Amino acid sequence: MKVTEHIKKSEGKTLFSFEIIPPKKGNSIQELYNNIDPLMEFKPPFIDVTTSREEYVYVEKNGLLDRKVTRMRPGTVGICAAIKHKYDVDTVPHVLCGGFTKEETEYLLVDCHYLGIQNVMALRGDAMSHQKYFEASKGGHQYAKELVAQIQNLNAGKYLHEVIETTDCADFCIGVAGYPEKHIEAPSLQTDLKRLKEKVDAGADYVVTQMFFDNQKYFEFVKAAKDAGIHVPIIPGIKPIAIKKHLQLLPQVFKIDIPEYLINEVEKCKHNKDVRQVGIEFAIQQSKELLEAGVPVLHYYSMGKSDNIHAIASALF
Ligand code: FAD
Repeated sequence: MKVTEHIKKSEGKTLFSFEIIPPKKGNSIQELYNNIDPLMEFKPPFIDVTTSREEYVYVEKNGLLDRKVTRMRPGTVGICAAIKHKYDVDTVPHVLCGGFTKEETEYLLVDCHYLGIQNVMALRGDAMSHQKYFEASKGGHQYAKELVAQIQNLNAGKYLHEVIETTDCADFCIGVAGYPEKHIEAPSLQTDLKRLKEKVDAGADYVVTQMFFDNQKYFEFVKAAKDAGIHVPIIPGIKPIAIKKHLQLLPQVFKIDIPEYLINEVEKCKHNKDVRQVGIEFAIQQSKELLEAGVPVLHYYSMGKSDNIHAIASALF
């Protein structure tokens, strides 16, 4: 079922969902199942699976370092299919512009359709670590809105090189990213909202936000989005702080603010297990306020570990 249908069916009741990252290649999928198993008691209607960009790795060849492009966490669509089958839950593969040609994206979408996957998150992806700015891959898309348009074309039977009178048309529900504190590259929140509107106009059905720690920013973002003519569901993304390093890492990587109160509480902690507890308690309070405001879904970034998400969901659902 589509994410938007789940939201409609819930009739105003806030749903629980989460995002997982594929294991590093060479590791077992069992690791992933061990993290998903405990969360299934909260009946997530859908689970997102991220896609990693390819990165440069250096391998030694004849005593010299050779640079190769590789993807450290492949397998997004396979994992989506495996989870869908094992848990009977809808899955949402993240589809990236960066690192893929349009043809590769088309084949990936065809695979998703055959596997009964009805939702996709359409994302641009970040620049590679050695690049200052994002550069589209040769034959790929520059912006997520172009990817949204490609998916919508496919929904209409328009493939890249042919229009096919299809007997089994894809009908993907499309999610896109939104940024309550604006995307790092956007010159202003207002401009970024204009870009978000373009993605919705291109056919996006719902938005999932970047993590934020101040609910006021989410509420203001939702209002500004409505004022800008964006009327699709805007799902808040929640990330519980889990280690002290997050105080530097999260603002640096995602350009988000962490409230003083939370910083002070984390700084008081001697061990990361105490930080984890502070992160859980903060996320519970944050989620409670969002629940009271009637958000459609509370969507958690698990980043590979689910014990803290389980503790948060236990207090709420
Ligand atoms: P876009 O919507 O294309 O926007 C990128 C930037 O370009 C913005 O600053 C926007 O304002 C600007 N822009 C858009 N259109 C134009 C235009 N026509 N002219 C000029 N500027 C324009 N990354 C991963 O690698 N894998 C994942 O699985 C993943 N999952 C994510 C899930 C969520 C919920 C979120 C919020 C982010 C995720 N990301 C993921 C990160 C995302 O790929 C990055 O934030 C990326 O830098 C931007 O992606 P986007 O889809 O928002 O890009």
